[in-house]
Amino acid sequence: MSTSQSVSKNLETTHQTISKAARQWNRVKNDINLIAVSKHQTQENIQAALDSGQRLFGENRVQEAYKHWEEIKNNNTYPDLKLHLIGPLQTNKVKEAVALFDVIETLDREKLARKLAGTMKEANKSLPCFIQVNTGEETQKAGITPQDLTDFLDFCQNECALNIIGLMCIPPIDDPAALHFALLRNLAQKHNLPELSMGMSNDYEDAIANGATYIRLGTSIFGQRNS
Ligand SMILES: *Cc1c(COP(=O)(O)O)cnc(C)c1O
Repeated sequence: MSTSQSVSKNLETTHQTISKAARQWNRVKNDINLIAVSKHQTQENIQAALDSGQRLFGENRVQEAYKHWEEIKNNNTYPDLKLHLIGPLQTNKVKEAVALFDVIETLDREKLARKLAGTMKEANKSLPCFIQVNTGEETQKAGITPQDLTDFLDFCQNECALNIIGLMCIPPIDDPAALHFALLRNLAQKHNLPELSMGMSNDYEDAIANGATYIRLGTSIFGQRNS
């Protein structure tokens, strides 16, 4: 099978799995948005996903995202194309990020919130943002701790006037992911945030069971990454 055939087949299979999980958990399929994570992928694979109708993509590095998407976005061949930043954002990359991405999922500190707010104002944009929560409280991992969320959300919304639509998490590798998804859902409910970005190739059915509205899948769509 050619690469483009396998990407198209994988997308089809993934949509079937999402439908099945949605039925099982009494969810509406259309409430579960599939983000195709195109980091480390070839342009050919990305094109194959576009050809199959996929319009929502995630990238975790600003530089690489420009390589993959700048031309495609500038040509405006796919007016409904949406790009989510799902990796850590340094303040010196904010301007480029705001220019390219449609949604920022990894807002996790005050300095970044301030910078995003200022940059969006200059660019006359108000990109929807997710706050990344470090549900496992891992020292090496990005994200605000669950205890700090209330204050941080207040800061983002009231001091920075950012458009916070939901929460995002990446569970610790060796914990049952479902516990972290349930925690994230509780936090979002408590703060009236409608969107939940959680679930990757290995655990997205658990994420759907726990209310995910965005799942971020790389491997299950594109196969193993190049690096
Ligand atoms: C790479 C990545 C994914 C996709 O991971 P897979 O296991 O390939 O599905 C999802 N979310 C984030 C934040 C990532 O960096």
